[in-house]
Formats: sequence, C-alpha cells, structure tokens
Amino acid sequence: MVNNTLTQKLPEFLNRRLITVCPTCLKPIYGTDIEVHRLINSDVNRWPVNFAYCHTYNQFPKHPLILYIDSDMSVRGQEVSDFIKLEEK
Ligand SMILES: [Zn+2]
Repeated sequence: MVNNTLTQKLPEFLNRRLITVCPTCLKPIYGTDIEVHRLINSDVNRWPVNFAYCHTYNQFPKHPLILYIDSDMSVRGQEVSDFIKLEEK
C-alpha cells in the first residue's frame, strides 16, 4: 500500500502558507491565492517561475505583482508593475 499522506497534506500546507506580502498594498498573499497546487502539478522544468498575480486590496486599483517562485514555493524575488493593460476579447 502506498502512503500518500505527505503528498496529500503538502498542497494543503502550502495553500495556508504565507508566500509574501505585496509591497504596494500590503496584501498578505497565501499559497491558495497563487494556486500553488497548479504550480506543483505543472510540468515546469525551469525554476524560478515568473508569476503575475493581479489583485486589488486596501482600495488600491488592480495591480500586478510579479513573483519569482522557486520549486519549493518560496519567493526569490518580486516586483510590482507600474502599468497594466488587460485586453478582454
Ligand atoms: Zn498589492
């Protein structure tokens, strides 16, 4: 019988983990916000990945926080874009 306890608990743990705090609006960003399970299960073979997380918080208008995330889901670097344009089809 295969013991999947650890692999089943890991995404749960990472979802609740504080990944970073946005330097612009101070929003605490948790694993669930950036869908860590999707990152873990993706076939990324080059880390860190570059992840743009667009959000609004504390009455700040929508802004993208670019996160550079390592394979252990720790943030290696981050920056907020000053300009954003989303084209909707
Ligand atoms: Zn923010």
